[in-house]
Amino acid sequence: MADTTGSRTTGFARPVERIDTSPAIADTTKTTTCYMCACRCGIRVHLKDGRIRYIEGNPDHPVNKGVLCGKGSAGIMNHYSPARLTKPLLRTGERGSGDFREIEWEEALSLAVEWLGAIRATEPRKLAFFTGRDQSQSFTGWWAKQFGTPNFAAHGGFCSVNMAAGGLYTVGGSFWEFGDPDWEHTKYLLMFGVAEDHDSNPIKLGIARLKARGAKFVSVNPVKTGYSAVADEWIGLRPGTDGLFVLSLVHELLAADRIDLDFLARYTNAAWLVIRNPGGADDGLFARDADDRPLAWDRAASAALDAATPGMQPQIVGEIALPDGRRACPVFHLLAERYLDGRFSPDVVAATCGISAATIRRIAAELADVAFDQAIELDQPWTDTSGRRWEKMLGRPVAMHAMRGISAHTNGFHTCRAIHLLQMLLGAVDTPGSWRYKSPYPRPIPPGPQPAGKGSKPNAMLPGMALGNPRGPEDLLLNDDGSPVRIDKAYTWDAPMAAHGLMHTVIANAHAGDPYPIDTLFMYMANMAWNSSMNSGEAARKLADKHPDGGYRIPHVIYADAFFSETVAYADLVLPDTTYLERWDCISLLDRPIGSPEGPADSIRQPVIAPDRDVRPFQEVLIDLAVRLKLPGFVTDDGSAVYRGYADYIANHERRPGIGPLAGWRGADGTEAGVGAPNPGQLQRYVENGCFWQYHHEPEALYYKHANAAYLADAKRLGLIDSTAQIVLQLYSEPVQKFRLAAEGHGPNQPPAGQRDHVRKYFDPLPIWYPPFEQSLPEQAAYPLHAVTQRPMAMYHAWHSQNAWLRQIYGHNRLYMHRGTAAALGIEDDGWVWVISRHGRVKCQVKWMEGVNPDTVWTWNAIGKRRGAWNLSDDAPESRRGFLLNQVISEFLDGGRQLNADPVTGQAAWYDLRVRVEKADGPAETLPRPAAVHRPAGLRAASRKLAYAVTSMRAGGAREETPPSRVGLGHEADQGRDEEAVCSNPAETPPPPDRPAKTAPPGNVGPLRGPSPQGEGEKVLP
Ligand code: SF4
Repeated sequence: MADTTGSRTTGFARPVERIDTSPAIADTTKTTTCYMCACRCGIRVHLKDGRIRYIEGNPDHPVNKGVLCGKGSAGIMNHYSPARLTKPLLRTGERGSGDFREIEWEEALSLAVEWLGAIRATEPRKLAFFTGRDQSQSFTGWWAKQFGTPNFAAHGGFCSVNMAAGGLYTVGGSFWEFGDPDWEHTKYLLMFGVAEDHDSNPIKLGIARLKARGAKFVSVNPVKTGYSAVADEWIGLRPGTDGLFVLSLVHELLAADRIDLDFLARYTNAAWLVIRNPGGADDGLFARDADDRPLAWDRAASAALDAATPGMQPQIVGEIALPDGRRACPVFHLLAERYLDGRFSPDVVAATCGISAATIRRIAAELADVAFDQAIELDQPWTDTSGRRWEKMLGRPVAMHAMRGISAHTNGFHTCRAIHLLQMLLGAVDTPGSWRYKSPYPRPIPPGPQPAGKGSKPNAMLPGMALGNPRGPEDLLLNDDGSPVRIDKAYTWDAPMAAHGLMHTVIANAHAGDPYPIDTLFMYMANMAWNSSMNSGEAARKLADKHPDGGYRIPHVIYADAFFSETVAYADLVLPDTTYLERWDCISLLDRPIGSPEGPADSIRQPVIAPDRDVRPFQEVLIDLAVRLKLPGFVTDDGSAVYRGYADYIANHERRPGIGPLAGWRGADGTEAGVGAPNPGQLQRYVENGCFWQYHHEPEALYYKHANAAYLADAKRLGLIDSTAQIVLQLYSEPVQKFRLAAEGHGPNQPPAGQRDHVRKYFDPLPIWYPPFEQSLPEQAAYPLHAVTQRPMAMYHAWHSQNAWLRQIYGHNRLYMHRGTAAALGIEDDGWVWVISRHGRVKCQVKWMEGVNPDTVWTWNAIGKRRGAWNLSDDAPESRRGFLLNQVISEFLDGGRQLNADPVTGQAAWYDLRVRVEKADGPAETLPRPAAVHRPAGLRAASRKLAYAVTSMRAGGAREETPPSRVGLGHEADQGRDEEAVCSNPAETPPPPDRPAKTAPPGNVGPLRGPSPQGEGEKVLP
């Protein structure tokens, strides 16, 4: 600010300029946890005059250490999005029309209780309760259990259940929330099928550390974007062939005898004896002693002993005779027999994978070189579970990471197991420099508990949580007549190990009344335009479809969302949620925690700002409904509420004695970690600590956790596991073999005749590879290209569809094609095409690129929008030039009822999609374009102007800051307002009254200006 009074030393007034170089941006700062994607970074939210001004990363937070991505900082614009719902809604028009009337919460809750109460009193399974990328699943799942419906699941069934189940049944952990590369020591990172979102900031930080140390980073992915774009080597193989590539690496390592036999013998089931009795009920099971302990052959004693006997010299090849005369082989023998077969040779698999045999051989050699010739040792003594003291920790510095790119295929479960097999052969599981378990993993194998859901009764809760981990056919959720217990057919012979349920089948099954009709579909955060596995057009049609008598085939739909997403229009009753900045929440060890290899951690969200609309946090609404329904656990004997709200639940709920949603500051005085009585001051302690808690294990507990006595004892003390016994890694999976035996006619629970060959083929106890199902359908030649999607780096969910900052980057999407492939088809750069699959066609615009497998086309997901949804105008670029690949995907194969899903877990196989691409004529617009949806009552048109935290000029010269509730860009004409279309940095204070407001220069496309109404918003191409 200039001081024009100056001093008069030479006869002239000399202005003295005093510039405030560090203006206060806020009067209040609160910590909480980001929810702009699923990484759960810690953030500091700066507020001024009760409005959000700025979000930054929390430098103290264990997940992101202060780093904030573009999505995270754009949380402001999600919070102030014009697409936010403002009040409960009751449908007045036809489903899908968007015609609603606003109602009061009391009416909304009473109506929900009327529907839900009638279901609970008669047939609780007629409630299907499914949530999307819900970070409160330990709570929502418990609510479903207390209600008594087996029909609960979240989004994992279409996201990455193959990763989770494959890992948990193999190594007692998996990637992302379950494990991390040892960023400080690894010398070689091999990453499979990861774009930028699984996970985000932590991997960026880790890759930076690898690069600073000169470690090699190899990314295996059909598309060279995101992490692949910064890898030292990109391997652009064909989608769905990762498993074959990995098993070829296994072949090479075995053939070269470059494997860690000591690791295999000590820490895996390589030496466990497998009974060879073809046709027998025990064929392929482990030989066990009288106490059910697996046996191994001890060379010194020439006898089969308990495989955990300390000091034994296990035999790992050859066939032996058991004392009872049965024949048996060690697991490693079977493994070597399988993978040394020439069908896994690089020369044989190269063409299928779309990469050269020389590349496969070189990668195998590099892995072996780093693991064995560049092994590391940490000067850290430790003691294993058999009592042996080790003076050093030996490390194999090869780390791996994988996510949905390998998971969303019909062969994903086995591909995931194959990657873990490769890790084990290299001795690269939780050793220094390799992949490390993140607390609370490792967990015992097979994982528990088993799924509950049988015997759902009126007015009764389930005996356990609806989702779990089967140990064999006896744990399937089948009724006595063989019919499915669950509406999504999870834990049936269609998807026996469906650990996350099958959210992607719910709408189709409920519509078909298969296996039974339901009454109410209750969804939360489950917008189908975000769920990239479902055919969104079909889902919409089924939600709106009626019986001949005029009643809807799905009688009631209740939907909770913070925004006017596509799914809102299909609900009968809409419960408006808050944004993540307006509520309490917890990221719990009971759910998907934020632990690290150094120890457990969890975190909370606190309300940093009060809602300015008539909305309620969904978790609070669930508690309110539970009390009104008098669900056990939510009410006392006299019917009064146990919890005053979700914050009270977080602090006081105990799932088991001493174990609750949060592990930090437990005990009445807050001095206990992990286990302890509820602490009424717990949330305050979290808030004082930046909204997170973390615990560090001692250095001797940090590696070899599956067999580390100090770690296992500490983990048990903290309530993370129940036993200190060694967790033996499972090269060979006996639970999988049990399903195969059932298909061979053994045991009381057997698949129907028509499914036996299917189960026998895909339930192999050792990892296998087979072509994705869609590639094996008739007329395959008509669909020569693979088609996949990725999350954009700057977007995660459909939530970002009405985020004024993020829409500038991805206002519409293109179909990316390899330049050579496109040219061969006569398709020009920027040309318009039809993408045609067995299930439909979509018209879109092409962009050429180099970094993509030539047989693969791809696009960003969740960009295309129905006209009018998200409070976007009819001419918004998302609906004119954006598209969803969902429109040509199907949850079922060939139009029938056979699941397009992994045969083991039921994971939706949306990355199996095959298409052909043809030139398109006509207007430069995407097709199909569903009819525009009406804006619900109460949702006012979004302003066409974009402004945030700016000063406006009113008639007469008065200025005022633009109210945040009026912020955003909606492409709706908004004539008559007096705000200037002004852009300013949110960190910048409004100019003082004596300085004109800073106006964006013409053509400014800086961070606060959205795409033009013509939709020219896309500025970044891969
Ligand atoms: S990575 Fe995800 S959680 Fe972290 S700041 Fe970005 S959007 Fe938020």
